[in-house]
Amino acid sequence: MTDHIQEWKDQRDKTNFKETVSKASKIKKKELSIIADNLHDEAFSKIDCLNCANCCKSIPPLINQEDVKRISQFLKIPVSDLYKNHVTIDEDGDMVLNTTPCIFLLPDNKCKVYEVRPHGCREYPLTEGDLFISNMDQHEINAKYCPAVFYVLKQLEDL
Ligand code: SF4
Ligand code: SF4
Repeated sequence: MTDHIQEWKDQRDKTNFKETVSKASKIKKKELSIIADNLHDEAFSKIDCLNCANCCKSIPPLINQEDVKRISQFLKIPVSDLYKNHVTIDEDGDMVLNTTPCIFLLPDNKCKVYEVRPHGCREYPLTEGDLFISNMDQHEINAKYCPAVFYVLKQLEDL
């Protein structure tokens, strides 16, 4: 059985998906949304995030006020502590968690706050249906960080 995480590690730096993304952008939105949805399911039937966790190790996730409130309640800590210790504003002006690897990543690659994780973590890697359509400019770079995105774009290459 193909090890898709290893394949991604071996190929990510020498693979360029510019043309693939540009070709995909020309497919009708409704059709592309269905294709992406199916490829998303296929990718995650072959790739187990618990064997990877690269997003949690390398990308500070977007977090909003609702996320902070929910996580504070879950951890039973004051909202102000979470802001002070774990939240920052990145160079694009977005509010994000402030460390990589993420402070909530556990040694077995599970997330300490999984049930209440930030919206950025819920949406990542942006390959599901309409999320794929509205984030076309993100996939090429995300393929460098996420084996599932790499898998989806590889399949799209052959369409
Ligand atoms: S980088 Fe992709 S495959 Fe790896 S844990 Fe994150 S979402 Fe899952
Ligand atoms: S909050 Fe959880 S899912 Fe999000 S980056 Fe941190 S460990 Fe990963």
